[in-house]
Amino acid sequence: MRVLVGGGTGFVGTALTQLLRSRGHEVTHVSRQAGKDRISWDQLSQSGLPQCDAVVNLAGENVLNPFRRWGDAFCKEIIRSRVETTKTLAKAIADAEQPPHAWVVVTGVGYYRPSPTAEYTEDSPGGDFDFFSRLVSSGEAAALIPGSPARGAVVRSGVVLGQGGGAIAQMIWPFRLGLGGPIGSGLQPFPWIHIRDLAGIVCHALETEGLQGVFNGVSPSSPATSNGSFARELAAALGRPALLPMPAWAVRAVFGAERAVMLLEGQRVVPKRTLESGYSFMFPDLPAALKDIVA
Ligand code: NDP
Repeated sequence: MRVLVGGGTGFVGTALTQLLRSRGHEVTHVSRQAGKDRISWDQLSQSGLPQCDAVVNLAGENVLNPFRRWGDAFCKEIIRSRVETTKTLAKAIADAEQPPHAWVVVTGVGYYRPSPTAEYTEDSPGGDFDFFSRLVSSGEAAALIPGSPARGAVVRSGVVLGQGGGAIAQMIWPFRLGLGGPIGSGLQPFPWIHIRDLAGIVCHALETEGLQGVFNGVSPSSPATSNGSFARELAAALGRPALLPMPAWAVRAVFGAERAVMLLEGQRVVPKRTLESGYSFMFPDLPAALKDIVA
């Protein structure tokens, strides 16, 4: 299968590209910069969809970039980088003479309202209570292509755990130095997924005829994981203590109050439809996932 991947140069895209190529698929990225096996968003808008059998969008400015001040300009960039890229791909698919068979977009579990107790499946309500939930709704709405023969699937991802990027890269050094610990109270749920499973779910959605709709991209044990238990397991995987909590005020000072919610609160999310669809997780449990990543 020929697969076009928007944002395929990034953290998740690199893992997905490796997996797809290992399964014999051809991968082309859509990027802000054209290059080898890569077209630019401008080229896509001007020349239309290249011949392909499936399309994925992973493009998005990193919301938790601590070097970007939280404010209107950054929020606009976050929206543009996800919603506009998804719209551009959806339009290219809608206009294609030979449309692809499958179209998959990765959004986030920020769709569901943070709660210490509620458990959410793909059918639970959400998507309209804060910036992040509306960001997910707008991204998912932008992906809709009425009447298209392309099968549409959305993967709502939790915090992606993998080597060399994402959350682990941001927090590994304090933990390696024995200075890590829970964020805030540590009681908030921590919805997580191993990067190979997120890539695996996207690949499963691309390859499995008939799959469409929303799939939660979190590990089956993630509803039982709190931020505190994650901190303990990460420290244990590194053979270090996890004693120093990061106070809520410090998180708010670095990220801004609105964005700090992503770290200080969380959702218990169940991958119900994902499991029912026949996907088998490689890393359902946190200790093995972390051992694989930090060992
Ligand atoms: P990355 O931060 O690695 O970014 C993915 C790609 O997006 C980049 O390689 C880049 O491609 C493109 N991009 C970045 N900024 C912009 C911008 N301002 N405008 C246009 N394109 C941009 O993301 P991940 O791989 O970590 O995540 C992939 C998707 O999964 C994202 O949409 C993210 O929101 C979602 N997700 C990720 C989670 C995580 O923990 N990582 C959690 C939940 C959801 P290029 O430079 O080639 O243009």
